[in-house]
Amino acid sequence: MITIEKADRLKELPPYLFAELDRKKDAVRARGVDVIDVGVGDPDQPTPGYIIEALTAAARVPAYHRYPSYSGMNSFREAVSAWYKKRASITLDPLRQVVSLIGSKEGIAHIPLAFINPGDVVLVPSPGYPVYKTATLFAGGIPYEMPLLKENAFLPDLNKIPAAVLVKAKMIFLNYPNNPTAATATSEFFAEVVAFAAKHNIMVCHDFAYSEMSFDGYEAPSFLDTPGAMEVGIEFHSLSKTYHMTGWRLGFAAGRAEIIAGLGQIKSNIDSGVFEAIQMAGIAAMHDDTAWLAEMRALYTARRNVVMSGLAKIGIQAATPKATFYVWAEVPKGYTSADFCSHLLETAGIVTTPGNGFGDPGEGYFRIALTVSKERLAEAMERMAKAVG
Ligand SMILES: *Cc1c(COP(=O)(O)O)cnc(C)c1O
Repeated sequence: MITIEKADRLKELPPYLFAELDRKKDAVRARGVDVIDVGVGDPDQPTPGYIIEALTAAARVPAYHRYPSYSGMNSFREAVSAWYKKRASITLDPLRQVVSLIGSKEGIAHIPLAFINPGDVVLVPSPGYPVYKTATLFAGGIPYEMPLLKENAFLPDLNKIPAAVLVKAKMIFLNYPNNPTAATATSEFFAEVVAFAAKHNIMVCHDFAYSEMSFDGYEAPSFLDTPGAMEVGIEFHSLSKTYHMTGWRLGFAAGRAEIIAGLGQIKSNIDSGVFEAIQMAGIAAMHDDTAWLAEMRALYTARRNVVMSGLAKIGIQAATPKATFYVWAEVPKGYTSADFCSHLLETAGIVTTPGNGFGDPGEGYFRIALTVSKERLAEAMERMAKAVG
């Protein structure tokens, strides 16, 4: 027997805060409790039929069975460029300013390898999608956590970042509409980010995974649509949430050509691109999505409304989300995030996510994902009322 020892980069990862909750969830299920799981941000509904049809047709084309180009089919990247023309008002060079990704997580996880040297600082939001921090650590970088606080509308206060940090900072991750807080960013904030990035020579990586998942007529601004943004950053996109395609693994990044090229160089040494039949399905998904987007938005609006009225009855504070399929709610007085989520699980059979699992400033919150039917959500809200009352 040889001894198996993990590399330092794995040993140094922060402890997995959801492990305890996962264990408890299994234990409660084993007792036979009908568990309502609003913990994970994974759509419960299938991928729309028009996208499945496009995949089925493309899967029969032998040319698509071969190794794809690592940077994406020209037609896929042209579709991305067309999306930006329609949704924002910018013209992208599909060959230099767009790269396909095996889901946006893949691109987010790889980009620090292209630009971060040991000791470089990466600014990451906290609470936040955990990959920004782990990807930074894997590259030997130092994550600096920018707290997202209610008093700042869950936007980072860029003026509070110490000068000594800014000197070493090379990259900033942002994500609006935001997971887990469901906050949105204004164009004014993005303009501030562009000025900040230009002043301190920091490249901006904006995660736009929830670009289309918005309600009440709200349209989330693209970071790249901000004047000057194309010079300082890129935007990560995912087809996962918008088109209920989480399992398909398709996303892309767009923006400043040198940043896209660096990411592409890493990718060309690690993966071999996205199955072309899936790219064809992605083109179809984005091409004619008006009807689908209306249906998807109506689905989550109805669910959101059930949760918001339930929380109001219980007296739990939460801002009504304009976007994303999350509700970021304050835990009632007398509980920590972990205590409250355990209490909901044990007494009501509801799985929610404790806010501190996304970073310390998330303490005092819990996240509800709108990923079960509105009937199940209504049931969850009734059970929650009893558990709190
Ligand atoms: C779901 C999610 C992703 C990852 O999406 P994939 O394209 O499926 O990899 C990235 N960022 C945020 C904030 C997410 O919530």
